[in-house]
Amino acid sequence: MVYQARADRYDTMKYNRCGRSGLKLPAISLGMWHNFGGRDIYENARAMILRSFDLGITHYDLANGYGSPSYSAEQLLGQVLISDLAAYRDEIVISTKSGYDAWLGPYGEWGSKKYIVSSLDRSLKRMGLDYVDIYYSHRPDPETPFEETMGALDMLVRQGKALYIGISNYDAEQTAEAIRILKALGTPLLIHQPVYSMFERWIENGLQDVLEIGGSGTIAFCPLAQGLLTNRYLDGIPADSRAAKPVAHLREHHVTDEKLEIIRQLSEVAKERGQSLAQMAIAWVLRGGKVTSALIGASRVEQIEENAKALDNMVFSLEELQTIDNILAK
Ligand code: NDP
Repeated sequence: MVYQARADRYDTMKYNRCGRSGLKLPAISLGMWHNFGGRDIYENARAMILRSFDLGITHYDLANGYGSPSYSAEQLLGQVLISDLAAYRDEIVISTKSGYDAWLGPYGEWGSKKYIVSSLDRSLKRMGLDYVDIYYSHRPDPETPFEETMGALDMLVRQGKALYIGISNYDAEQTAEAIRILKALGTPLLIHQPVYSMFERWIENGLQDVLEIGGSGTIAFCPLAQGLLTNRYLDGIPADSRAAKPVAHLREHHVTDEKLEIIRQLSEVAKERGQSLAQMAIAWVLRGGKVTSALIGASRVEQIEENAKALDNMVFSLEELQTIDNILAK
């Protein structure tokens, strides 16, 4: 069936300005690390992409290697762009990244200009695009001077292959350095993509200040701790969950009794707020306005629908925040 985007797609989503840039991102973005590969069911992945768009989730996040088999997520998105979303390209923000190993030899990973440039060319080909909206350095390279990595990113913007630049997994000091170099080059750092959730709060220790001063936005990846911060594992490990899959980074041994006890208590707080735990976890990363967008993953349409409703209750009382902190400190 020919896809027609819903006319009310912009009615409920919130759009946040990304740092001091002109770009706004949806408060919730969709990542394609898992469940959008060549081994996944295409119609399910397509349905998740299209339902997201209908809910105002205008931002899709990828990386060169995403998907199983590797690189297949970009191909899949490219397919959906051609079959369904071609008319909506200007309404969509697509990001990809390079940094992890993508092909054999000394030019297939990290942060050299040689790698960064070739990787984006390959990504564009796989997605069938002329440009991506955001191109990230996926991880800092301890051996390549940041001037080279940032210089390569700046060059790609000047060539029109990327509109904006991001970095991911850089610590506070490395981020300050990247911001300084990019500013001098005339291509300010749009955004940082760190892990951030109730279980992973390292960015509160300096990085958030650096980004605020630098005028860059933040998109928090794994806000649901890969599914732990949902009701998914409360009654055991479902056979179709990420923790049960052989290739996933979330393993059965991460779902410990101690963790489950914390998750149960958090779930009670969420219930009192009239939310599911997933919804509260998303609202929590967005609290206070420091995070531009919560970058979620999903394995089915219903999860995206549930998560989008996080926006219905975004306000936390001081008491609720304290209760959550107390639970997390256990
Ligand atoms: P999340 O923490 O949002 O976890 C997503 C998983 O949680 C889903 O696959 C699903 O698990 C479960 N889930 C989601 N919603 C619900 C719900 N309402 N109820 C129950 N379970 C739910 O994020 P991801 O780990 O998927 O990462 C998101 C994105 O972040 C990636 O796609 C990628 O774009 C980016 N990322 C970036 C990294 C980087 O280095 N820059 C590293 C990792 C991720 P299940 O599949 O079991 O149903």
